[in-house]
Amino acid sequence: MDRTALDITATTERLYVSKSKFLWGHQCRKLLWYAYNAKDQIPEADAGQQAIFDQGHEVGVLAKLLYPGGIEVCADATDFEQVLQNSLAALNERKPLFEAGFVYNGAFARVDILNPVGKNEFDILEVKSSTGVKEVHLLDLAFQAFVYNGAGLKILRCYVMHVNRDYVRRGPIDPKKFFKLVDVTRKVSAISKEIEPQLDEMFSVIRLKQEPDIKIGPHCSDPYPCPLMGKCWSFLPADSVFELYYGGKKCWRLLQDGVVNLKDIPHGVDLTERQTIQREVANSGKPHIDRKALARFLKRLKYPVSYLDFETFNTAIPLFDGLKPYQQVPFQFSLHRQSAPGAAPEHHGFLADGRVDPRPEFLNRLRDCIGDQGTVVVYNATFEKAVLDKLAQAFPEHAGWIVNVKRRIVDLLKPFQNFSYYHPDQHGSASIKSVLPVLTGRSYADLEIQEGGQASLEFLRIHFGDVLEAERLKVREQLERYCGQDTEGMIWIVEAIQRL
Ligand code: SF4
Repeated sequence: MDRTALDITATTERLYVSKSKFLWGHQCRKLLWYAYNAKDQIPEADAGQQAIFDQGHEVGVLAKLLYPGGIEVCADATDFEQVLQNSLAALNERKPLFEAGFVYNGAFARVDILNPVGKNEFDILEVKSSTGVKEVHLLDLAFQAFVYNGAGLKILRCYVMHVNRDYVRRGPIDPKKFFKLVDVTRKVSAISKEIEPQLDEMFSVIRLKQEPDIKIGPHCSDPYPCPLMGKCWSFLPADSVFELYYGGKKCWRLLQDGVVNLKDIPHGVDLTERQTIQREVANSGKPHIDRKALARFLKRLKYPVSYLDFETFNTAIPLFDGLKPYQQVPFQFSLHRQSAPGAAPEHHGFLADGRVDPRPEFLNRLRDCIGDQGTVVVYNATFEKAVLDKLAQAFPEHAGWIVNVKRRIVDLLKPFQNFSYYHPDQHGSASIKSVLPVLTGRSYADLEIQEGGQASLEFLRIHFGDVLEAERLKVREQLERYCGQDTEGMIWIVEAIQRL
């Protein structure tokens, strides 16, 4: 994530490598080349990525509260030179500095928090919205320490300040308890030697007339999904070996051996049962149907059947008391109940409103309409059960009926996860978004909200953001349609299975 407000690569005559570009270059030199030579071809962050950046920013703001009297070095800086000047001038204050910028050997770094210690030394702290220290954080700090030390500062210790996953909100957020401070000085020192040679090589790559010839590989999504995947991966056909169910390293070995299409996987290759089905249907073009297994699944449904789906959001900084960081908060459910096979379903739903904790109302409404008999069909029971468990923990007065609901749950994902039915157009996915079109011809394409992540962002935007009432009402309608389609879609899927 580049929180550098100024585009260092483009606004200065000299070439600089910022931390974010260094991390890109570390992941792939080709991506680095594009960042400097064909930036317009790198897609902007999408709404989901932007939400992650925004969340990181909010966490960063909270961390600063731990350093009262700290100086926001670049608050009024309009250009790169000013960032450097302000940072240099602020050093003498011997106060914590936020995002002070320094350069060394063509590298530019802005550490989240530069904290003066002893007489003339500093600690550097990077604030992360993750709940642990990751390998990439060490490289991040090694780069920053390299620049700061090179610029003449004496860096004593390096810290990662990350979110404490065990923190439970009670009243206003307490930053002291919300964060964990991890001293990673030793680990950072161990890799600090790598920085300078890598930087030298990166400058050579940036100056190449043409993009470096780098093939796709596991590095494309490690540590982050590369923004150029749409471009570099476009040569792969729709039925490529990367659709193999839990293919992992096998996909890369196949590609290395020149096998691109699923249907061309040689018979000597060790495939799982499900992967073998994928190769078969890629060759035949027809779906694989295990009618006995599907019949067994249908037998488990006891009417009245309630088709149930939850929508949830989760935030790094818990919005309400009793929540932990990133805990799923259910804000919507849709329930379609069918009294008998083929009967017209009756619909119940709940969509939270306002800025209050939606869970109590969610529970009351669900309890009132779920009944105590018949199967409860969900798509991906692990998720729904986990949400119910957390609700029962937080609101023990509801635990009794929640146990009853959990006992009645049947997972509609299972027949597709087990490949009792598999259509080539599922492209290796068992999600409802892939299964619904191949079995029923219907899809989510005409809905404004098309998946759960988007639903959660939209809910947060219209209830916690600054939006006009008309927009809020419009999006609430879209949310109702989306969640309703998930449960009605399950009925269509079950009916399609019955016809099979
Ligand atoms: S998609 Fe892969 S190969 Fe292409 S630039 Fe990104 S990391 Fe490099």
